[in-house]
Amino acid sequence: MKRIGVLTSGGDAPGMNAAIRAVVRKAIYHNLEVYGIYYGYQGLINGEIEKLELGSVGDIIHRGGTMLYTARCEEFKTPEGQQKGIEQLKKFGIEALVVIGGDGSFRGAEKLAEQGFPTIGVPGTIDNDIPGTDFTIGFDTALNTVINAVDKIRDTATSHERTYVVEVMGRDAGDLALWAGLADGAETILVPEVDENMEEIIKRLKRGHARGKKHSIIVVAEGVGSGVDIGRQIQEETDLETRVTVLGHVQRGGSPTGRDRVLASRLGAKAVELLLAGEAGQVVGIENNQIVYHSIEEALAKKPPFQQDMYQLSKELSI
Ligand code: ADP
Repeated sequence: MKRIGVLTSGGDAPGMNAAIRAVVRKAIYHNLEVYGIYYGYQGLINGEIEKLELGSVGDIIHRGGTMLYTARCEEFKTPEGQQKGIEQLKKFGIEALVVIGGDGSFRGAEKLAEQGFPTIGVPGTIDNDIPGTDFTIGFDTALNTVINAVDKIRDTATSHERTYVVEVMGRDAGDLALWAGLADGAETILVPEVDENMEEIIKRLKRGHARGKKHSIIVVAEGVGSGVDIGRQIQEETDLETRVTVLGHVQRGGSPTGRDRVLASRLGAKAVELLLAGEAGQVVGIENNQIVYHSIEEALAKKPPFQQDMYQLSKELSI
């Protein structure tokens, strides 16, 4: 093998750049050539492909976003789209590919591997919703962004004696809300993995208020529904002055944390090692601080685990 490609796809995540850097540098260290494919699978189909050198990935380890840009591409879900992609790879003499992205991007990678094109997935998403890895690249940075925001909201919540609902991202997964809620000492955490009874939550808020509790913070995962609707219901049913903050895309940006940079560097390098070892159709991950890999098929067949013990702990600590 002489030449590999790398692309980022789907939702961006802080640390993707550090992963690209690791792929490029590790590959060059092993005398491979690396080509960057811009704009994910869309750019692959369109042939937006350029050679990357050591210097191409200089000065990016600390930057959020992705220097290769990202895109969503419906055409790539079709066999014709995938064939066009493979033709472009062949045209550029690229023999194997690293795909940095989330579960959607891995389905694309799986299709390439099924059609005989060696492809390895690197999990990059703030949602932490990929089975086969304890953490995805970007999760730690997004978590710290949420913590920072909620700390600020807590200051004003204390001053005004209000109830605050904070909606956080995570798609269908509650990890970001759970970790942030626990780290922030939120009174209530609503996640899609647990069916909570709104009546109970409202009773609890009223009990807390009657006991003299001055303010409450409720962290809601976007997968549960709209924080605005939940805030409205709380205001109507408790008469407590309630404010809603939807954190939105601030959670996707920012300089990656040390943990995300290290994780991205380790996972990106492992992807290249696997390609050098002749592996294909695998996703790299971290489990108990060891770098591991699973077949894409196996990783996508499972449901991401939810840490029920942490959810229970958050309840016990917020009585
Ligand atoms: P993420 O990777 O963040 O989960 P998406 O779900 O939007 O993001 O997927 C990113 C891209 O991966 C899609 O726009 C599409 O090009 C490709 N993709 C998703 N699902 C499939 C599939 N079943 N087959 C082939 N490609 C897919």
